[in-house]
Parts: sequence; structure tokens; C-alpha cells
Amino acid sequence: MTTHKPVLSLVVPIYNEADGLVDFHTSLVGVLKSLRPEVSYEIIYCDDGSADASAAILSKIADKDTTVKTILFSRNFGKESALSAGITYATGEAIITLDGDGQHPVELIPEFIAAWKDGAKVVIGIRKASNASPLKAIESKLFYSFFNRLSSQKLIPQSTDFRLIDQQVQAEFLKLEESNRMTRALIDWLGFERAYVSYIEKERAVGKPGYSQRKLIQLAMNSIVSISPRPLYLLGYLGVILTVLALIVGITVIVEQLLLHDPLMWKFTGTAMLGILLLFFVGIILISQGILAIYISHIHTESKKRPLYVIDRARSKRIE
Ligand code: UDP
Ligand code: MG
Repeated sequence: MTTHKPVLSLVVPIYNEADGLVDFHTSLVGVLKSLRPEVSYEIIYCDDGSADASAAILSKIADKDTTVKTILFSRNFGKESALSAGITYATGEAIITLDGDGQHPVELIPEFIAAWKDGAKVVIGIRKASNASPLKAIESKLFYSFFNRLSSQKLIPQSTDFRLIDQQVQAEFLKLEESNRMTRALIDWLGFERAYVSYIEKERAVGKPGYSQRKLIQLAMNSIVSISPRPLYLLGYLGVILTVLALIVGITVIVEQLLLHDPLMWKFTGTAMLGILLLFFVGIILISQGILAIYISHIHTESKKRPLYVIDRARSKRIE
């Protein structure tokens, strides 16, 4: 194994990609070789517990190619975990994460590197058009609008995991401890100078997406919940609305029926009054939930143990 630091680390999460893996590796290496000798590289494949022959193929590739490192998970932990593992073990001055299914065009790697050499610490691939199914496109639209409405931290729609991060960003990324994570959102949270490279997503070479509808919905929920406690507050607001409504209706009925003896002939029944009372108490309960939400959101923020700030050391002066 070479011990000196490569310029570039490529981190590729792999889950059941056996059919396309060799082709993917060949095209990746093709691009990387054209960048040598200025840009030395290592490729880190992280097998996320594939059920097919992916792991065996990766081992074979690594036997032949000494620039390849493999991390094999004991079971499927999800792409976010695979990316984190890869970023942890990457030793390059810059790290590029990309999908192993060929959907992130490897030909654009030189553009990412150029942007990085120009001073960007984070280079983000923006998906221009995609051949994804209409259902997925709608889902992704919904997710972004929902996410951005709910959370104080905004995600750029169509920003992807096809990214380059500088080793400085890597160091800060590794300090983040939360286990429910969306790599993209965390990198966005870290800040630093950024640049964008837009690309047109290719068809998946072979195989099928590892993300089932269920997993996607789970991921969306997780990322919203891990970023923002705002959904919890919504219940509290609903409670306030219900309570106020019940109060208005209740007072009107009391005045009209009990004090003025029904001049408008509404003839409110006891059941209707009970209904109003019920509405009132449900409102109160929801308000209490909203109050609980405020406490929970404090715990939520604290439990993530996010650093209070991130220093851009390269640009700060006289800081160790
Ligand atoms: N992947 C992974 N673990 C999973 C699912 C997917 O590491 O549980 C990898 C997969 O091999 C691919 C990348 O993550 O390299 C993107 O997955 P996929 O193509 O299924 O997602 P999509 O393109 O629909 O976002
Ligand atoms: Mg894909």
C-alpha cells in the first residue's frame, strides 16, 4: 500500500451494483488516469451489505488495482452511513462522493477539481434534468418544498450527493456526531466557500435503485425530523386554533341560549354543547403537546451535540 497522501479520494457507496460495477470502475479510472500525474488518487468503495456479488467483485478489483480501498459493511446500513464511512477513511486533500450506478457522470470530475483549485471548499453537483420516473420527480419536489418550509436550514433543490469536499470540510464533518443523518444537509450546514457544477443525470446503467418507496419516505421523514422539530409545533398551533374556536362558539351559545333564552331560536341540544366542550378540551390537550414540543425540541437540539460554530481555519489569522 502506498503511504503518501493522494490528492483526491473518491468515495463510492455500493449496494447491489454487481452488474455494472466493473464498467463503472473502468470508466472512473479512465477519467482519473487522464488527470495524472498532477492528481494522484485513491478510490474507496464502501459496500453497504450488498446481497449480490458486489463485495466479491470489489475485492477482485482491489486485488488488481492498488489505488482501490474497500470497506465492507456487515449488513445494509444505508447510503448515508456508507458515505460517512468513506469520508472517514478518505485520506485525500479533496474528497469526491459519487454514486456507483453510473448516474453521476464521471467525466465531470475534472470540473469539480478545477472549482476546488479555484478555492471552493465544497463543490456541489446540481442535477439539471433527470430521467427519474415522474413519481420520483414529484416526490422530490414535494420533499424539498416541505423540508424548506419546515426547517430553518434550506436545501437547494436538485443538489445531490455528487460532491467534492476539501479535507478541511472533512475534518469538521467528522466532528458531527448525530447518527440520523443526511450527508448533504450536514455538509450544507457546515458552510465554507462553495461552487456548483450542473449535470444531466444519466440513466442507471444496470440494476435497480436500492431505494424502495418505503426507504425513500423513511429517509425523507428522518431528514425532516433530524433537522427540525417544527412538525411538533404544528400540533400546538392546531390546539390553539381549536381552543379559540371552541371558546367563541361556546361563549356565543352560553349567551344566546342560557342568558338570553334563545331569541334566535337555535335550539342547541345538550349533545351539541357537549361537542363544543369536547372541542375545547381537545384543543387544550393539543396545546399541552405543543408545549411539550418546545421542551423536546430543546433536547433534540442538545442531543445532536453539534459544534457551536465551525471555523474556516485556512482563512482565519493567527488561530492555531
Ligand atoms: N446505495 C447504498 N445503500 C443503500 C442504497 C443505495 O449504498 O441502501 C448506493 C447505491 O449503490 C448507489 C447510490 O447509493 O451507488 C445511490 O443509490 P440509488 O441509485 O438506489 O439511488 P437514486 O439514484 O435513486 O438516488
Ligand atoms: Mg441511482
